[in-house]
Amino acid sequence: MKIKRIETFCNRFVGFVRITDETGKQGWGQVSSYQSDISAEVLHRQVAPWSLGVEFDDLDDLLDTIAEREHKFPGSYLCRAMGGIDTAIWDLRGKAEGKPVVELLGGKIGKLRAYASSMKRDVTPAEELLRFQRLRDEKGFDAFKFRIGAECGRDVDEWPGRTEEIVRTIREGLGGGVALLVDANSGFSPKRAIEVGALLLDNDVSHFEEPCPYWELEQTQQVREALSIDVTGGEQDCDLATWRRMIAMRAVDIVQPDICYLGGIARTLRVVRMAEAAGLPVTPHCANLSLVTLFTMHLLGAIPNGGKYLEFSIEGADYYPWQDDLFRNSPYEIDDGHVTLSSEPGWGVEIAPSWLEKSAYQVSDQV
Ligand SMILES: [Mg+2]
Repeated sequence: MKIKRIETFCNRFVGFVRITDETGKQGWGQVSSYQSDISAEVLHRQVAPWSLGVEFDDLDDLLDTIAEREHKFPGSYLCRAMGGIDTAIWDLRGKAEGKPVVELLGGKIGKLRAYASSMKRDVTPAEELLRFQRLRDEKGFDAFKFRIGAECGRDVDEWPGRTEEIVRTIREGLGGGVALLVDANSGFSPKRAIEVGALLLDNDVSHFEEPCPYWELEQTQQVREALSIDVTGGEQDCDLATWRRMIAMRAVDIVQPDICYLGGIARTLRVVRMAEAAGLPVTPHCANLSLVTLFTMHLLGAIPNGGKYLEFSIEGADYYPWQDDLFRNSPYEIDDGHVTLSSEPGWGVEIAPSWLEKSAYQVSDQV
């Protein structure tokens, strides 16, 4: 195929991408959320010149070529922008074949277990417990993730004693029979992470995410070797060579690529295959209800080493005021703790025309 036109529709928080091929077929994707207007600019300036009008079958090769042509600019923004065309190409392919992306990837439609994922640290343990009890009762969730430590917190808690209190409060309040996951967001030194790990094990917490500064892979590896709990991470990592090293050294027990941070489905599949070869499960990061969670649903429905559940943000308008009214047909209904992948072709979602009308528009055409 050949891409003839790339259009972006964005605000600072969300950026949707529409591509048109040489036959007029279209597909929708998304650059990563947050600073999406900057990612869209990078897409038009640094990705479009190497992808418009280029005949390709091999998407990996196209994305590698873009990265090589822009090798002076490695890192997050280029990947966030590349993810915009990758995800639009998968939608276009699905629509062309009349199949949902999950089927293009070798999987099938159906239900996926979700875990309720809290993004808050300014919430008290008692308030967090009440939210989880309500979600358990109303939506049927049986797995919950909450935050401990402080983001890049250098061993200083959000407030003194919060980590110990929230772990005990949530376990006692929800009882046994539910899975508990925690995220330290790079908050601890290895010494403190290992101490906290003992508390987590005492309270039957099964997933300890990003215990140490994520870029210090040896620190995370040290924690993993000291604890029997699953140590997890990788959401920020967008460099495939770093992924290869992280997996080879067994820094984590479970890998958590973010499809939009990493540069799309094709690059995430490369991480999935590295993890599969090493016997590691993949529980991707998808922390909001823009398209990233839908992309993750299609991926998880297809890969052989998918983790136990889909991350599903429980935050609403107070935390994500930009997240409402993005879609005409929301793909994010929870029933008995599960989401359902629809049989609609491509991603199976339509961006709300009312949202598009209010967005900033840019277009790049094949010259
Ligand atoms: Mg995380």
